[in-house]
Amino acid sequence: MNFTILTLFPEILEGYFKSSIMAKSIEKGLVSYRLVNIRDYATDRHHKCDDAPFGGGAGMLMLPEPLSLALDSVGVAGARTVFVTPSGRPFDQPLAREFAAETDLVIVCGRYEGIDQRVIDRYVDDEVSVGDYVLSSGEVAALAVVDATYRLLEGVINGESLVSESFEDGLLEYPQYTRPEVFRDAKVPEILLSGHHENIRKWRLRERLKKTLKVRPDLMEGLELNDEARKLLKDIVSEGGYHGFYTDGGSVPEKS
Ligand code: SAM
Repeated sequence: MNFTILTLFPEILEGYFKSSIMAKSIEKGLVSYRLVNIRDYATDRHHKCDDAPFGGGAGMLMLPEPLSLALDSVGVAGARTVFVTPSGRPFDQPLAREFAAETDLVIVCGRYEGIDQRVIDRYVDDEVSVGDYVLSSGEVAALAVVDATYRLLEGVINGESLVSESFEDGLLEYPQYTRPEVFRDAKVPEILLSGHHENIRKWRLRERLKKTLKVRPDLMEGLELNDEARKLLKDIVSEGGYHGFYTDGGSVPEKS
C-alpha cells in the first residue's frame, strides 16, 4: 500500500516512517510512502502558502494554488484522497479497514485555519476527523490514519492479535496483565493463572462487555450479541452501577 502525505512540515512525519513496525513494513515491501512538501509548490519567491480568509475572521487559510499544484504533481486519479479535518466524518476502525483495502491513499494535512473549500471540492474523496477536538495541524491526525490503516495490512502484524482487539467485533478489549503475578500488592485475577482456557475466554468476554458498557455504552447500541454474550450482559446489567443505553430504560435485546 502506498501512502502519500501532503504537508507543510514533512519533518514532523519523517521519523515515524523510519521507526519500529512501519520501518520493517517498508523494508518488507508491504508499505511505501512519499512526503510532499506543499511549500515546494508555492508560486511566489517568498514561498507563501497562506492568506487571510475572504469574509474576514481570525487566522489564515492555506492558499489553494500551492496545494493544488502539489496534488497535481502527485496525480490523485485512482487514489483515495483524504483531507484530515475536525469537521470530517469520524475516523474509526471500519473506515481504517476500508482504507486498508486501497492501494493508494493520499492524505492532505491542513495548517492554520484549514484549506480552501475549492480544493476540497475538486480533489478530496473523504474528509476525516480523528476526534472531537482541534489539533494545531493535520500531521498528527494523518499519522493516526496511517497507523490505524497500515497495521491491518496482511503481513504487518500477527493476524490473531488483530482479531481480539478493541472495536473488531464492536466491543472494547478486556483488561490484560503480565508478570509479576503480584505487582505492588495488586494481584492478577486468579482465573488468568488457572490455565482453564474456556473459563478465561468467558471471563474475557464478560470483562469486554463490562468495560464497553461502562466507558462506551454508545457502542452497545445495535450490537448483535450471541446467546452467551446476551446472558452475560443481563447479569452485568442486573448487578447495577452502569449508565447508558441498557440501564437507562433500554433492555438487553431478546434473540430475534
Ligand atoms: N479552523 C478549523 C476548524 O475549526 O475546523 C481548525 C483548523 S486546525 C487549527 C488546523 C488543521 O489541523 C486542520 O486543517 C486539520 O488538517 C488539522 N486538524 C485539527 N484537528 C483535527 C481533527 N480533530 N481531526 C483531523 N484533523 C485535524
